[in-house]
Amino acid sequence: MKNKDILYIVVPCYNEELVLKETTKRLKEKMEELIQSKKIAKKSRILYINDGSKDKTWELIKKINEEEEYFTGISLSRNRGHQNALLAGLMTAKEKADIVISMDADLQDDIGAIDGMIERYHEGAEIVYGVRSSRKKDTFFKKVTAEGFYKFMKLMGVDIVFNHADYRLTSKKVLEELEKFSEVNLFLRGLFPLIGYKTEIVYYERKERFAGESKYPLKKMLSFAWDGISSFSVKPLRFITGLGFLITLFSILVLLYSLIVKIIGSAVSGWTFIVCSIWFVGGLQMLSIGIIGEYIGKIYKETKRRPRYIIAENLDE
Ligand code: UDP
Ligand code: MG
Repeated sequence: MKNKDILYIVVPCYNEELVLKETTKRLKEKMEELIQSKKIAKKSRILYINDGSKDKTWELIKKINEEEEYFTGISLSRNRGHQNALLAGLMTAKEKADIVISMDADLQDDIGAIDGMIERYHEGAEIVYGVRSSRKKDTFFKKVTAEGFYKFMKLMGVDIVFNHADYRLTSKKVLEELEKFSEVNLFLRGLFPLIGYKTEIVYYERKERFAGESKYPLKKMLSFAWDGISSFSVKPLRFITGLGFLITLFSILVLLYSLIVKIIGSAVSGWTFIVCSIWFVGGLQMLSIGIIGEYIGKIYKETKRRPRYIIAENLDE
């Protein structure tokens, strides 16, 4: 029966000792409420993932696990970054859960949105994306860079949900498919749309971090954005090919121009030859690099060994 589903909430934690107590308090309230209203099974849990924290985060998680009924945790061998920690959590949770919700430890994601997510799931959605309704609480810089990031990703042909980070509900079925994606450069929010199935969106307002500092400084944010683009798109390579082609075409114009200058007779001797060669050879080189790039792009796609299809239903079973 659907209302007896086991829910796991996975929460990656990196140096979060300042927020864990409050997060635990609020998640506990939510869990009790959901269990009492029979929306989820009693075996539901909150799974903290300690991502190689340098502070007392893991000690705290162990303590919470001893004192509280619904809390459990895993600890990674070292800091592997948010996406990897999240994946570890999802894969661990999948073994026992029917539905899994992932969220951040810092209470920026509105816990109140969980009800809506579970409702959508009961209505038949396999993935429910939490999407920010506004960015009022973000600094101007964060707002501009983050929204620019989503737009640029779209431009680069990466299919992602606008203003959705990693606050989402997924069914066990979806996670079993996710397991087949064996890529090393993880960009989870780009993978879920590839999996497909029925998806829904729940809007929520993103809050300020409860305590502590962001673990995503600009440098990490940029490298994350580049990972997203380079793991999902070969458009940058195609861009080189296009540019090379254009420059080669342009070199024909330069050839005409320099011939005219030569015929008029105002060209220094040797100038025509040099100018034509520079443009033509330059264009040709770029075109060649682009073509090599196309092949590298193919190799790159092959080495990912992503599943080529996912069977949603099979009537022959
Ligand atoms: N996080 C993690 N490993 C890291 C960095 C971050 O597990 O190496 C976790 C962090 O504890 C938090 C979540 O990822 O639960 C999001 O990080 P943060 O809130 O610092 O990012 P922001 O909201 O500023 O983008
Ligand atoms: Mg945060």
